[in-house]
Amino acid sequence: MSELCPPSPFSGGILLSYKCNVSCRHCMYACSPKWKGDWISEEDALRVLSQLAEEIRGKYSNPEAVGINYGFHFTGGEPFLKFDLLLELVEASSKLGLPSTFVETNCFWCRSDEATMRKMEELREAGLKGILVSVNPFIVESVPFERTERAVRIGLEVFDRNVIIYQKLFFELFRGMGLKGTISFENFLEEAGGVLRYAELIPAGRAPYKLGYLYARHPARRFFGSSCEQELLRDWHIHIDNYCNYIPGYCAGISLGDARNIKEVCRPSSLKKRPIVRALLSDLGKLYEVGREHGYEEPEEGYVSKCHLCLDLRRHLASSGEFQELKPAEFYEHLED
Ligand code: SF4
Ligand code: SF4
Repeated sequence: MSELCPPSPFSGGILLSYKCNVSCRHCMYACSPKWKGDWISEEDALRVLSQLAEEIRGKYSNPEAVGINYGFHFTGGEPFLKFDLLLELVEASSKLGLPSTFVETNCFWCRSDEATMRKMEELREAGLKGILVSVNPFIVESVPFERTERAVRIGLEVFDRNVIIYQKLFFELFRGMGLKGTISFENFLEEAGGVLRYAELIPAGRAPYKLGYLYARHPARRFFGSSCEQELLRDWHIHIDNYCNYIPGYCAGISLGDARNIKEVCRPSSLKKRPIVRALLSDLGKLYEVGREHGYEEPEEGYVSKCHLCLDLRRHLASSGEFQELKPAEFYEHLED
């Protein structure tokens, strides 16, 4: 493959910032309180939102419905850390006619019924269609479960059926346990660790570094011959970060271009100056070769997944500052926060 030509996006997430109030062990975007704390500017956000609205026009049969891969969500980091910005972007999206918008949150801010209701209602009045409540054993290490329950209860009142609980398995489990407050992951493992077999835990982002002990490990060659063409060129879900990096799927730390000009990103362009993406489109073994040429050494303990190998190689390569596709650079510094 000599050219890159991503399809026009169908759904996606807009990261207002990588800044988060917590630092989950599984975070795919390596978000944490340690990020320097840049937020998307209003000007950039308006350009991105209007481009998305244009790309998506006529593609949604039900612009009032939301789903994990249906619609556009505001996320982070934690978007409620800057509620005014979130509200402004919801209003702008609504004026632009962006369909099926929702916000993703870890619910840290749901400290009382009144405050929760007020913020959710303001968002709904500004045009937001729904909310995604994140529930997992990592967030609940820091955010008391009562706040999550409150977000779901009030979310159902405000947004009716447009409340996505991700993942419901954990929500029901914590409720069944009568959990109050927080629980450490170690205690969770002791009490209910078996449930992880049935949950979605993607071994990418921070997870291989912080949770690697949960998985079997393999040498790099086990993943050679595998191409990421599908993941890099899919249309059904993309992300755009606060620096306007156009991120394919869940491949954090890879930028396919400047999302302020989506038409340009989705036009055929040469892969000559993008050796990382070129390698990933053909064979992970080729990325390994690029890494070795730049002094990468395979760790003895091996890798838990192909994304772990990819990320470890990219982390090494990003430190040279030579590769324009590896953005934002700060992502690679926060993998082990
Ligand atoms: S998973 Fe969500 S709540 Fe946890 S650090 Fe990442 S963005 Fe924050
Ligand atoms: S191996 Fe890399 S490019 Fe492929 S899906 Fe995983 S993170 Fe994305």
